[in-house]
Amino acid sequence: MHPVKELFYSLLCPPPHYCYLCQEERIIGDDGLCDECRNNLKRPILPAPTEYLDGLTAGVVYTDELARLLLQFKNKERLDYAPFLSQFIHIPKEWYAELLVPVPLYWKQQYIRTYNQCYVLSEYISSEYGIPICAELLKRTRETSQQKSLSGSERRKNLKGAFEAAPECAGRTIVLIDDVVTTGSTLNECAKTLKKAGARRVYGACIACSIR
Ligand SMILES: [Zn+2]
Repeated sequence: MHPVKELFYSLLCPPPHYCYLCQEERIIGDDGLCDECRNNLKRPILPAPTEYLDGLTAGVVYTDELARLLLQFKNKERLDYAPFLSQFIHIPKEWYAELLVPVPLYWKQQYIRTYNQCYVLSEYISSEYGIPICAELLKRTRETSQQKSLSGSERRKNLKGAFEAAPECAGRTIVLIDDVVTTGSTLNECAKTLKKAGARRVYGACIACSIR
């Protein structure tokens, strides 16, 4: 449709507005949320600093509503949730971030899913902050079990040596982009791999944290 025509129709009959979280038809803000859901958003308590990660941010507490959205986003049903979800990812100025690296999937998993959801989020972050993405710096070298079903020590064992960094990361300040952080063991393993290959600083920025 011609843009002018489209504008005319949208003014004549505005589309219904649904809040992303409660899915109710309400007055929503630019953030895609109704007042009630916005007021209910909670700042998360982040896991304790890890050995290799220089800093970590997560915008909100991981809730059932958010879990539902993330699942649809990961299953490719709703890739259009990306701008809504990425607004909860924050990169502090003090990090002086040079490159974004999405937490990688194992190639087989990415082949089945056809995309890496963290890469899609990184694209939005990259255009908002003007920081380039360099996904090639980190690779997942083997399949790993779902972290959420494992205990702390099992998580570390599951991830040991699961990533490989490219030598080009040497001397760089990198921000890892992930959707949800729980104990931080995945981000820590990624950071460890990058630091061992010479990265100067490695941070993590996520949508949500599942520690309540
Ligand atoms: Zn709502």
